[in-house]
Amino acid sequence: MRLYSTNNKDLRVSFQEAVFNSMPKDKGLYMPVEIPRLEQEFIDNIEQYSFQEIAYRVASALLGDEIPYADLRTLINEAINFEAPVVKLDEQTFVLELFHGPSLAFKDFGARFMSRVMAYFLKDGEQQLDVLVATSGDTGGAVALGFLGVPNTRVTILYPQGKVSDVQELQLTTNGQNIRAVSIDGTFDDCQALVKQAFADEELNAKLRLTSANSINIARLVPQAFYYFNAYAQLKRQGFSEVVFAVPSGNFGNIGAGMLAYKMGLPVKRFIAATNINDTVPRFLETGVYQTKPSVQTYANAMDVGAPSNWVRIMDLFDGDVDKLKTMLKAYRFTDEETLRGMEPIFEKYGYIACPHTAIAWLAVQAYVQENPNDESAKVFLSTAHACKFPEVFPLAIREKLVLPDQISSLHGKAKQYKALNKDFEGFKKYLLENCE
Ligand SMILES: *Cc1c(COP(=O)(O)O)cnc(C)c1O
Repeated sequence: MRLYSTNNKDLRVSFQEAVFNSMPKDKGLYMPVEIPRLEQEFIDNIEQYSFQEIAYRVASALLGDEIPYADLRTLINEAINFEAPVVKLDEQTFVLELFHGPSLAFKDFGARFMSRVMAYFLKDGEQQLDVLVATSGDTGGAVALGFLGVPNTRVTILYPQGKVSDVQELQLTTNGQNIRAVSIDGTFDDCQALVKQAFADEELNAKLRLTSANSINIARLVPQAFYYFNAYAQLKRQGFSEVVFAVPSGNFGNIGAGMLAYKMGLPVKRFIAATNINDTVPRFLETGVYQTKPSVQTYANAMDVGAPSNWVRIMDLFDGDVDKLKTMLKAYRFTDEETLRGMEPIFEKYGYIACPHTAIAWLAVQAYVQENPNDESAKVFLSTAHACKFPEVFPLAIREKLVLPDQISSLHGKAKQYKALNKDFEGFKKYLLENCE
């Protein structure tokens, strides 16, 4: 697999280089030079294959021989060890549940795959990899649990004290082993600034092999394509040949992976981007003007993004052709009030409890169906997190019905372990240097 930078199409790097660098120096994003199409024969018969086999086909088409096939198979079997079921709600409406991994959010796919790819590329005897990650909630849990026990790696997670939910804090602080949490007296932006400063610090870089695990890493994008193909396989078994995917979107990595799958030959009729009032992309599709703005806090806080970092990848996939993009992509935005009101009918009609992010995607499906009443394709909305991660959002009548999965019930009662620091860089640097053996 060769990759270029969206800012320099003459650049060529290997997958390994792209994984460890995360981002090219020119601040573009890495994209595959060539996007392979899967064999038609495979796609036509995809319903006969298991999730892991589908994942393997997609990964090997993309990566080529950068990871030998047998090793890639082992890696995928370890990383993708939980299901992504498509659950039927009514004749044409389905929910793709992406929350069955250890942190109960779709980010587990990206984090588990990336951690194992990094460990694979680290040669025996090489210096340990120090992963630094700032989180506003969901990313930290997925990265912590994704790297837990992965040899030759250590993860330091910075989170804003008092600003993540109780479940999220438990996921960050109860792991031990190669995972440690640092609680910062500040905001998410302060945490992010500390990580950035650490990457720029010469002394730290001389002593530690620092890397980032953020969502623009190409190794997080690749595994997210797997479940789009696998969802299609499940729908084919139910007699559908055309699919519309509605994706709750923040940084647009998830939907970008869906579009990558489409470019690899997945028969998708349309993508629907569902956002909260951080609506940079819906506004762009309406007005033609791409104008980022500061993020606004909402109930669907993992989508509180005013400048979606993966958007350039989507433009790149469509060669910057907005008209072509618009034939494939619709976008809808919803306010907090609409989100709250949306969670109730899903529960009343189907007995289904959707997290706020997921509810926004369901609302987007409703809006799409109203505008396209004759579209007979399967409408699939992605559920990006388990509802129990956001209990405070639900009206009591729904909250009482939440069933805690094992991943959560086993966390309660565990002691939280973290280092509390203030937001000044010298203190953080000292902590890293004093705890680096
Ligand atoms: C991260 C996240 C999103 C947004 O995904 P993007 O790939 O950034 O668009 C949506 N829902 C949940 C629950 C998330 O954790």
